[in-house]
Amino acid sequence: MVDCIICAKHRGEGPLGGELVAAADGFRVYHASPAEDGRASLGHLFIETERHVAYVTELTDDEAGALGRLRTRLARALMDETSVERTFAMVIGTSVAHFHEHVMARHTGTPKEVPWYRSHEAAPRADVATVRDLARRLSLRLPPRS
Ligand SMILES: [Zn+2]
Repeated sequence: MVDCIICAKHRGEGPLGGELVAAADGFRVYHASPAEDGRASLGHLFIETERHVAYVTELTDDEAGALGRLRTRLARALMDETSVERTFAMVIGTSVAHFHEHVMARHTGTPKEVPWYRSHEAAPRADVATVRDLARRLSLRLPPRS
């Protein structure tokens, strides 16, 4: 789809960035791109379908199975590679009509007043080198590109 910003990102075009962590089984995993301050919320990841589908309901059964495996491996890797006490996964889909699932980290020491769905806002702000290093370490724990 020509005007889809996630499809454009997969082609290396458009406004979205983010460090590619892995690509396998019809999905890509990206770390969130840096904000205007040049830093990103450490451990905020996106799982995106390679093909353009708008929402989770359009996944095939095979894709749904692959997504479940990938999400679980990613959450496990994130908890092993960072000081994360919990990971959250959610499909929202209210702004960009290309399937993407957020996998977010709640880092150890996050104040209890921070609601679970704002955990990424309380996460350490990481520079590009730190994000690249985490992406590399996570990639080593995920299946190779297929
Ligand atoms: Zn798309």
